[in-house]
Amino acid sequence: MIELQGISASTGAALGSFYLMPLPISKPTESLSSDEPDTEIEKLNAAANQISDLLAERAERVTGEAQAILYASSEIAVDTALLSTAESLIRKGNSAVSAIWEASEVFSQLLTEAGGYLAERASDVGNIRDRIACILSGVNYPEIPQLDTPVILIAHDLSPADTTDLQPGQVLGIITEQGGPTSHTAIIARTLGIPAVVACKGVVTAATSLMSARVGLDARTGAVTFNPTVEVEDALRDVSAALALRRSVEPNRSPEGYLTRDGFKVPIYANVGRVEDVAVAIESGADGIGLLRTELLYLGRQSAPSLADQRETYTKMLSPFRGKRVVIRTLDAGADKPMAFINFSHEPNPALGIRGYRTIAINKDLLLTQLEAIRDASLASGADVWVMAPMISLPSEAEEFASLVHSYGLKSAGVMVEVPSAVFFAQEITQVSDFVSIGTNDLGQYLHAADRESAQLAAFNDPWQPALLRAVRQVAAAGIAQECPVGVCGEAASDPALAAVLIGLGVTSLSCNVSAIQDVALAMTSITHLEMQSAAKAALAAPSARAARTSARAHLSALIKLGF
Ligand code: PEP
Ligand code: MG
Repeated sequence: MIELQGISASTGAALGSFYLMPLPISKPTESLSSDEPDTEIEKLNAAANQISDLLAERAERVTGEAQAILYASSEIAVDTALLSTAESLIRKGNSAVSAIWEASEVFSQLLTEAGGYLAERASDVGNIRDRIACILSGVNYPEIPQLDTPVILIAHDLSPADTTDLQPGQVLGIITEQGGPTSHTAIIARTLGIPAVVACKGVVTAATSLMSARVGLDARTGAVTFNPTVEVEDALRDVSAALALRRSVEPNRSPEGYLTRDGFKVPIYANVGRVEDVAVAIESGADGIGLLRTELLYLGRQSAPSLADQRETYTKMLSPFRGKRVVIRTLDAGADKPMAFINFSHEPNPALGIRGYRTIAINKDLLLTQLEAIRDASLASGADVWVMAPMISLPSEAEEFASLVHSYGLKSAGVMVEVPSAVFFAQEITQVSDFVSIGTNDLGQYLHAADRESAQLAAFNDPWQPALLRAVRQVAAAGIAQECPVGVCGEAASDPALAAVLIGLGVTSLSCNVSAIQDVALAMTSITHLEMQSAAKAALAAPSARAARTSARAHLSALIKLGF
């Protein structure tokens, strides 16, 4: 038996034989070409266009975040900066394959250095390069094959383009060497309900040397086992059986939110970013929207969307929620989300630079137009609209934002708590805000000084980290003292056991990834508020993420029986 440890990327467990995805192509050892540069450039442009078309066509077949990523990838494939770097290398005598290889290394290095969302694009560049290089070298790109029997998929990493046609019935589970809890693989696995473990170091080497082994994965804990013992196999089967049991239970619900076993109300909202996500959120049983990421409507545009455009889009997104809560976040631009129409000057460390609410210093009109559009959409839709600002560090910023929002006739103004200073200012911030929402993704990365996109640092960004839980407790306590609602809208709220702990810590609502809503609702139904408080107390006292999880789960036995 060989045991490896990765990071949990979804829920459930899987057991069976595996299929190891081959690396598409390796770095060319020979860089020079004997062909004419013009011919090589022509071949490169043709291959890049072919891949761009293929990615755009795959984007049409999916929805939500995967679609956005695929459209962005389609543009990257024909990006002028990428192709002109490659062209100048070809003019120096390089072959088209080595030129695109080198140019994409430079390009993805730039994206990685920018961090965050842009760093995520870096792994897309690798996939685009592989696809272009395969065409130029005349080899087939290894797509996920049609398999006769369901298998566990093991890969170095998976891009959204690789997984467009993935069938949950065909793939029992996914294990990747790369990626983190918020990576593409994790998002896709959660969306499709496939058990998945990411950032599992050594899994490709182990799979290469144990080609006919069976593999088991426990997506709840991130444990991966090659040739598991009978006991481990039985335990994994129990988790799978629990999953089946879970599918037979209905969550308890009231008009104001889901209910714990003892009737404590927990509204569960959805995180959305695009118009098409709204229908999925409703289908998943969301009580409303807890995080509407408006920047996804702005990304990739050369000019700011007009007031009329924004009014129309927001109205479309809000209309299905007449009388229900929708929390809209104002533009979270900067750093990992640069916008062509905002004049960001070069910053040595963009993650700590002008971003989120701070962009008002360079373009306040953007925020004012956005508030106007939100006010109009709120009136037109009849939704209960709450507005919040991202990346708030000081009470003075929260106060300024609240008076601005109120001046537009919008009654509920809040802020995200995702910077450590906002945790220490929780008393003051909850005094001047109508609500707050904790962004555990950024709060985790800033608390631990660990880039949330880095696979190497994924353990620091484990949402069970006790420092993060202690920060949540501090904010929740301030909220209770000031009678200010405190939600969590980071990915932490999408883990059913952790969601229970967050409620135990005093958080008043959760906003989840749409694919997690039903699981989190079931988790609430299965346990009492008191059990959640005991689990929270145990997790807070733990010295590590792993210990926090283990000790909290000891108080959540009914939830464990359901396989969470
Ligand atoms: C967060 O930081 O937790 C959050 C919800 O915001 P985003 O993931 O969009 O940065
Ligand atoms: Mg954030």
